[in-house]
Amino acid sequence: MDTNNNPEVVLSVRNLVKDFPIGQSHNKKNFMRAVNEVSFDLCKGEALAIVGESGSGKSTGARILSRIYDNTSGDIIFKGLPIEEFVKKHGRLEYARQVQMIFQDPFGSLNPVHDVFHHIARPLLIHKRANKDTITKLVYELLELVGLLPAVETAEKYPYELSGGQRQRVAIARALAVDPEVILADEPISMLDVSVRLGILNLMADLKDKHGISFMYITHDIATARYFAEKTAVMYVGHMVEWGASDRVTQTPQHPYTQLLLSAVPEAGRHGRRELDAKKGEIPLWKPDSIGCPFAARCPRVLDKCSDSFPAITEIAKDHFIRCHNI
Ligand code: ADP
Ligand code: MG
Repeated sequence: MDTNNNPEVVLSVRNLVKDFPIGQSHNKKNFMRAVNEVSFDLCKGEALAIVGESGSGKSTGARILSRIYDNTSGDIIFKGLPIEEFVKKHGRLEYARQVQMIFQDPFGSLNPVHDVFHHIARPLLIHKRANKDTITKLVYELLELVGLLPAVETAEKYPYELSGGQRQRVAIARALAVDPEVILADEPISMLDVSVRLGILNLMADLKDKHGISFMYITHDIATARYFAEKTAVMYVGHMVEWGASDRVTQTPQHPYTQLLLSAVPEAGRHGRRELDAKKGEIPLWKPDSIGCPFAARCPRVLDKCSDSFPAITEIAKDHFIRCHNI
């Protein structure tokens, strides 16, 4: 992604690939490619939205960046160092401190037998950011920062006593406890009631704008990408098909897939969510030796050459890129 305007790149990914073995098979040749040739830069204090339908490789990308998975190939550069070197120099724990993850299900990510105080205090102690004299004050400050008031009462509660939105705020406070550079937020609002989603997005926007935290915001909802993130990358079957400044990608989408995603966003005066128009073709199972554009089978503007090669990157305007043969 073009970074000329903002040289402070925190996390870069180049040509990231992830293959998974299919099924229980131990046949080493039977792999599917969940992420293919993904490249982007995450800048300080900016949000990059990764948008795509289920199965497009969004969570796999986040898990690679949080080192839950290794990548098959490609490079990850954190603060100017290849990730392997960063980890060798500063340790895995330090990388984990600086690159935090927030998950979709805030109930599953909190331990039901521990109160809120424990959830926030634990990372503070593990990463030696507090001692027994300072910990109580720090926990309360973090709860206040994420809007869980009154902090003293909230700290005594257990996850089952909290709403989904409150639980997600605890998960955010826990991530903030270690003073991270980057937060990988994997569909952080999609399991929450519609009424509390905006509050969580606004909290994350505050953390980005006032505290300079960089967010990778994963979502299947391109409307929230436009609301929250400066940059948006649209993924289809493991491939980035369109990316750039969010206002450009969402207001003047050029890739047929992005256009379909946007046409499915409900608008005032229109009832419900429209199904995507392109459905004749199947969503392909991408393999390491698959060729062509993965969207070819569903694309309303498909050309002959689309099944021959994955399109090269075209910069169609400043801060706006696509991979499409039909431009
Ligand atoms: P998304 O988050 O966009 O819904 P995922 O990254 O979870 O997509 O999955 C992308 C593809 O990779 C899917 O086809 C999924 O079945 C496959 N996949 C994800 N994790 C694994 C895994 N641990 N083992 C095998 N296949 C996986
Ligand atoms: Mg996912």
